[in-house]
Amino acid sequence: MVEERTRVVVIPEFLTVRQLANLMSVSPIDIIKELMNAGLMVNINQQIDFDTAAIVAQDMGFEVQPESPLQVEVVEEAAAPVKQQFIAGEAPEDLVSRPPVVTILGHVDHGKTKLLDAIRHTNVAESEAGGITQHIGAYQIVYDGKPITFLDTPGHEAFTAMRARGAQGADIAVLVVAADDGVQPQTIEAIAHARAAHVPIIVALNKIDKPNANPDVVKQQLADAGLVVDDWGGDVICVPVSAKHKINIEELLENILLVSEVAELKANPNRPAVGTVVEGRLDKSKGAMATILVQNGTLRVGDAVVIGEIYGRVRAMFNDKGKQVKEAPPSMPVVISGLSDVPTAGDILEVVENERTARMIANNRAARRQEAAARPTRVFTLDDLYNQFQAGQVKELNLIIKADVQGSIEPIVTSLQKLGDESLQVNILHQATGNITESDIMLAIASRAIVIGFNVTVDPAARRMAESEGVDVRVYDIIYRLIDDVDKALKGLLEPVYQDVVTGHAEVRAVFRISGVGRVAGAYVLDGEIARNSLARVRRGEEVIYNGRIASLKRFTEDVKEVKAGFECGISLEKFDDFREGDVIEVYRKERVS
Ligand code: GDP
Repeated sequence: MVEERTRVVVIPEFLTVRQLANLMSVSPIDIIKELMNAGLMVNINQQIDFDTAAIVAQDMGFEVQPESPLQVEVVEEAAAPVKQQFIAGEAPEDLVSRPPVVTILGHVDHGKTKLLDAIRHTNVAESEAGGITQHIGAYQIVYDGKPITFLDTPGHEAFTAMRARGAQGADIAVLVVAADDGVQPQTIEAIAHARAAHVPIIVALNKIDKPNANPDVVKQQLADAGLVVDDWGGDVICVPVSAKHKINIEELLENILLVSEVAELKANPNRPAVGTVVEGRLDKSKGAMATILVQNGTLRVGDAVVIGEIYGRVRAMFNDKGKQVKEAPPSMPVVISGLSDVPTAGDILEVVENERTARMIANNRAARRQEAAARPTRVFTLDDLYNQFQAGQVKELNLIIKADVQGSIEPIVTSLQKLGDESLQVNILHQATGNITESDIMLAIASRAIVIGFNVTVDPAARRMAESEGVDVRVYDIIYRLIDDVDKALKGLLEPVYQDVVTGHAEVRAVFRISGVGRVAGAYVLDGEIARNSLARVRRGEEVIYNGRIASLKRFTEDVKEVKAGFECGISLEKFDDFREGDVIEVYRKERVS
């Protein structure tokens, strides 16, 4: 008789029924049936926890091992420092110069697109002439024998969206200002965004061919916005250009190379690649594709890669002329195929040792994200400022100020700037009139800033983004209160304000009497999850008939810590047992909001 070996299955903390079936190499239907036998109605995409999965797997004859979080952490850690700061931790002798990555910012219609076209067409490297230009989100030109990479989605929205996702975005910002139109609201925003990213700015004073061009007026406006150009004694390079007539484009490129040399941009080409997704798309025949800007290392065909929750192996690679290439050194944009899904701009690509590791990291991240989705965490809040300052995590308070009229901005900014001291500085990243928009929230995410509004409203889309990303947005109608709150936060005196965060709902489907306990609700978790010791309200129709705390939470006869959506459980509440079928138990926690 052949001895049957026990099959082993390694199970993560959370997974879907489908994932469990894949891990066990059995049909999902069998798992659903097994769960039904245990009284659980689930669908194939539903998440179950380790305990539930382990019971099913054991019942089906598997030996269960928990996925060691440690193992995954190690792999993640190996890649993490590079992800933070692409060349942190590299030995200086391994680093060589790399081409600059340039983004074009500026107000609408000032000529960003035209300038990108002019640059692309005046400087095609000899060897690459004849290649058909492909729009892949970035392109590289060679000027004076030196390559320069341009991101060809102009505007600070794209640039900051990338930063908000953890990517560096660019090394140099070219700020296009039309000489006949001057500094406009988006020019000011672009300056704030570039400054917040600590990216040097070169001004391209465009449309100088126009008869009504007035460079001096624009230079004055730039100085008012804090950018003093070189011929006015400042340190900001300003190149007058005409994108339309291709005037002075070469001078602009020379200056880009100059600034790039000063910045000493470096990378180590002899290591596995780390890069940023510039854009992603789905190709009918080639599947998921992405334009990757290599930030460090060299990306090669055949490399196993992980991008957020997406994994794959680089099947083919193309440059911006549509030509197949085998490898991409630092700062080179390439399109790759071979990914499990389409990534988002700003996601970070990392090369890992093999596809299995890539898949493991990607799946682990997905599970962690799903878990974290239930409890939004604040990126950075005013009430937390003092604690973070005490812990040495912050040394500055970044603020974005939006107000109804220019007249109210000045006193606010002046008063706020007086509040800091040498140990904790107040930085105003951006100040403008108008409502709080998504662009403000994006800047706050990218720079760990707090958004303060005075007599303005928060656009609904901005509100949603702030809530999901955990950005602290505060709107005031009294200047004194605004200043006072920031002052108190700096001194750690801000009184906390709490708000209820609902974490789940369960519907009472039956009521049981248990001797010694009283009446217990047999409930079905409708959404979120029910955690033991949570705060709870009982809603009967429109009315709230109880507000208190959960006393016990059971699955069948066992006490459990939490029960997720789609499962049944027994709930008893402190000092309340007057349950009726149809009552909804709403579970919530108190969260500090200010
Ligand atoms: P964007 O919105 O900043 O990308 O601006 P575009 O590149 O689309 O340019 C807006 C308009 O300005 C277009 O009609 C361009 O032809 C025109 N334009 C751009 N650069 C110049 C220039 O140097 N001179 C003149 N006269 N017109 C320009």
